[in-house]
Amino acid sequence: QTNLYSVLRTGFSYDLSRVALETPQRSYSFQDLEAGSARVANYLTSLQLPPGARVAVQVEKSPEALMLYLGTLRAGLVYLPLNTAYRETEVAYFLGDAEPAVVVCSGKNYSWVAQLAQKQHGCRVLTLEEDGSGSLTDAIAGLSSEFETVQCSPDTLAVILYTSGTTGRSKGAMLSHKNMIANAQVLNTYWGWQSDDVLLHMLPIFHVHGLFVAAHGALLAGARTIWLPKFDLEQALHYLPRSTVMMGVPTFYVRLLADARFSRDICRSMRLFISGSAPLLTDTFESFQTRTGHTILERYGMSETVMLTSNPYLAAEGPRLGGTVGKPLPGVSVRVVDDQLLPVAQGDISHIQVRGDNVFSGYWRMPEKTKEEFTPDGWFRTGDMGRWDEHGYLVIVGRSKDLIISGGFNIYPKEIESIIDDMPGVAESAVVGVPHADFGEAVVAVVVPREGATLDAGQIQAALKAGIANFKVPKKVHVVTELPRNTMGKVQKNVLREQFKAL
Ligand code: ATP
Ligand code: MG
Repeated sequence: QTNLYSVLRTGFSYDLSRVALETPQRSYSFQDLEAGSARVANYLTSLQLPPGARVAVQVEKSPEALMLYLGTLRAGLVYLPLNTAYRETEVAYFLGDAEPAVVVCSGKNYSWVAQLAQKQHGCRVLTLEEDGSGSLTDAIAGLSSEFETVQCSPDTLAVILYTSGTTGRSKGAMLSHKNMIANAQVLNTYWGWQSDDVLLHMLPIFHVHGLFVAAHGALLAGARTIWLPKFDLEQALHYLPRSTVMMGVPTFYVRLLADARFSRDICRSMRLFISGSAPLLTDTFESFQTRTGHTILERYGMSETVMLTSNPYLAAEGPRLGGTVGKPLPGVSVRVVDDQLLPVAQGDISHIQVRGDNVFSGYWRMPEKTKEEFTPDGWFRTGDMGRWDEHGYLVIVGRSKDLIISGGFNIYPKEIESIIDDMPGVAESAVVGVPHADFGEAVVAVVVPREGATLDAGQIQAALKAGIANFKVPKKVHVVTELPRNTMGKVQKNVLREQFKAL
């Protein structure tokens, strides 16, 4: 019998009076988190919901939103966070799919959310604002600040986390208490979390990175979190000198580096910068090292598995290598295998598959899809392709859905993208395959110039011709002002394939 909250609590229970969250307005102690989550749990329990009932949440980031998450865990119910960028048609899909018993939304969305929720029998809709007010806050105000956390079996569902929808429609990954306890404990040790750490938290909390990796990490360490609504350059520069750990997506690092005030001195109390969710360009990794003296630690994970691999934290375990996502975390098994599930030689690119207590049990209401994504011998197919480098570090090469097969040859978009990205005047690029009568698929490159630069498609093509095999050279190069991204900032190659399918 266990509960993720009870495990996280072991990290901070030694002194509940310490500061858990600090916002620009005020501070919240661990006792405040405990009391706030207890009120939420008391409220949810009073509704007498059946086991496994879902609490869907689409609210702005606030300390109260974290209490709502923790309270849902404590009540033994299933938390279902939704990206705040989703609009009505998207939310309609998630509510229809997940059939929540409770929905918590922002007041500004209340009318349409309530209308959608009417389709779910007996579903309650409450509001929670960024400033902590709302009908949820009113409903729990008079309730007890004590609650005995429900103890459940390790396999009990704790969260349904919808994937980012980069490759198609989002799928609900079912994560248990065991899955997240396993990951939180491993990361606590592996990244050297300490109670005197100060985490600079600027990530959204409807996604693995911000909610599970970052928030769990600080809670289990009993560490203080500087809790900011989102990434803001001025605030980041303001709080960095008092922080010891920062977690970010690659764009955070790009934006910090773009500001001349970002210096070695500003990072003086930092011990760890972590990057994930999308590939960190080697260029960013190196510039960061030069500017600050810090080496960004890149790690790899996904909604279905939480964290899988990490570059070493301790120098004794090896260097942090840019362009790699490091080694499998303790307790996580990672293999790179061919279509017959046989391991490929070191250096060969193939399918990344994983196993461990961190791996989810399946996709919500998609038994067929779940069956497809697990191998007969019980490994989860990540859908990512990669290779082992000579140090035994994993290198992610891209998604199997983005692999291009042209004239019978496998082409990995990343290889071509890396070359284009290094060309003068190029900000970024995406390479996709489009239908081609002779070759099956043909390579197309979409390139974004740096600010102020002009690019010539013909020159890019010519430069590529000089460097790589002809079958890899794009048949067409399109210069565009920006790449299409989903709400998590990930490049949507399916959109590019559609847009540029006519050669
Ligand atoms: P969907 O599954 O709906 O298409 P998604 O895979 O983008 O969306 P997430 O679970 O949020 O949804 O993202 C996980 C994916 O992000 C991984 O499978 C991998 O492709 C990518 N990723 C995560 N960390 C890294 C990293 N450090 N480097 C490269 N890619 C990464
Ligand atoms: Mg995915």
